[in-house]
Amino acid sequence: MGKTDIRSFYQSELETWLSSFGEPRYRAGQLFHWLQAGVTNPDEMTDLPLSLRETIRENALIADVKIVRRMASAIDETVKYVYELPDGEMIESVLMRYEHGYTVCISTQVGCRMGCSFCASGIGGLIRSLTPSEMLAQITAAERDNGIRVSNVVMMGMGEPLDNFDHSVRFLKLVSAEGGLHIGLRHISLSTSGVVSGIKKLAKENLPITLSVSLHAPNDEIRSRIMPVNRKWGVAQLLAACKEYQKVTTRRISFEYALISGVNDSDACAEELAKRLKGLLCHVNLIPANPVKENTFQKPDKNKILHFQQLLIRKGINATVRRTLGADIDASCGQLRKRVKEGGTP
Ligand code: SAH
Ligand code: SF4
Repeated sequence: MGKTDIRSFYQSELETWLSSFGEPRYRAGQLFHWLQAGVTNPDEMTDLPLSLRETIRENALIADVKIVRRMASAIDETVKYVYELPDGEMIESVLMRYEHGYTVCISTQVGCRMGCSFCASGIGGLIRSLTPSEMLAQITAAERDNGIRVSNVVMMGMGEPLDNFDHSVRFLKLVSAEGGLHIGLRHISLSTSGVVSGIKKLAKENLPITLSVSLHAPNDEIRSRIMPVNRKWGVAQLLAACKEYQKVTTRRISFEYALISGVNDSDACAEELAKRLKGLLCHVNLIPANPVKENTFQKPDKNKILHFQQLLIRKGINATVRRTLGADIDASCGQLRKRVKEGGTP
């Protein structure tokens, strides 16, 4: 029998697991605390009896990630990591420092099947989804490496979290649990390319996280060209699901809009976007597209970006331009892992 991934267990499930070995259920709280804090060696679980530590060693797999590359920005405190998973696959995470604390951007899958044309993560397709424990490990590894506590999490690294729905939701419940890292759901964002079935399911969970939707275009003509997911669920369907989500959760939705020169940055695009978002409690995050080696996309110049923002604001849409962190260690998600895998030096 394979070992059990107990770091992905809720405390109540640990109770059941412990009792299957004849251990008292009250140990679950202690064990949950160690697992969530990222302690992988049972000998460091000092308040557990030796016999229980042995049971854990023999029967449990406590997932962790290993740092294979660490790149720290010389400009700000941004640190990008390439982590190795227990099976040798690689993922990326980014640690960012803001005034209000530390934010970690985590991956939810190895690769991605959504195939957006501007994104490096999707180039090799999906390899596999991450377990909740592998999502947690990205946070605790960054905390350990820097001697800090993380207060915010964004699920915006590699992968489509709603294509790994159950594990993503379980991660959210674990990371916010008392006795664990206890990061408030209000301090967590989940970003999706627009998996409408997943947005509807997530609304039912009614978690006070921020839903971030990668819109990137105001209409089907442009969006289907750059995001294949739009051929399944068009802009109208996506925005209807967002409206529904907003109604159920009463949370403001955040729309990501990566500006790509000559593709989605015209005045007409801004006007159309404003029209379609009218009446929805939302915020638009404008991101200068990050050039990827495998495509020819370029970002518009600074003035064009500010002009696009002004057009939205004038129409009553709340819009900001995302500050670029770690510009000198540039490599948007997916790019770094690719280069490490190809044997190059970033
Ligand atoms: N799969 C999810 C979350 C991971 S991608 C999603 O697509 O939302 C995180 C964000 O990075 C998304 O908004 C995505 O559109 C954006 N992104 C990907 N490649 C980019 C690039 N080259 N330049 C700018 N943004 C990019
Ligand atoms: Fe996947 Fe998001 Fe990249 Fe699209 S942008 S390929 S959904 S990771």
